[in-house]
Amino acid sequence: MTELLSEIISANQKFVQNKQWQEFFPVDGKPQRKAAVLTCMDTRLAGFILPALGLKRGDAKVIKTAGNSLLDNTQDPVIFSLVAAVFEMGIEEILVVGHDDCGIAKLKTEELCGKMQSRGIAPDAVKGIEDKLRAWLGHFKTIEDNVKWVCRQIQTSPLLPKTIQVHGLVMNPQTGQVRVV
Ligand SMILES: [Zn+2]
Repeated sequence: MTELLSEIISANQKFVQNKQWQEFFPVDGKPQRKAAVLTCMDTRLAGFILPALGLKRGDAKVIKTAGNSLLDNTQDPVIFSLVAAVFEMGIEEILVVGHDDCGIAKLKTEELCGKMQSRGIAPDAVKGIEDKLRAWLGHFKTIEDNVKWVCRQIQTSPLLPKTIQVHGLVMNPQTGQVRVV
């Protein structure tokens, strides 16, 4: 067990023993606002994005990926998650929320592949995903471009009903201010 995991387990025991869960009002798994939020895994957005949007625990499904991105509109696990959210959990609106200063937008395929190889990832494995990585990162000409592209993938997915509303937003990760794109 690492130091971090041992700290997490001990914090969790205290959380349960002290009944800190009581500070969180009870909610069930059905999203009260019938919304799903697809956003970035950026640490600044954790615990921040829902209050910044006026949403509470229990209001929305939250899906996080690096750069609030997906690869395509039929095969990507994000699409599968949205299919489950729409058909099983009554989601009617989807918000794609990118953010300023997104680290994924700054990634360069060659650099990332180089770092993977220098940490011992097999060259064949790196070569095998290089084109996919390039295509993935290619949508980040700007943060807005990526949000628009992702919204379009969701809107045009043959697996999702056309009645679903899809919105694109970009958030300032310090102030929480959003702009609609
Ligand atoms: Zn990001």
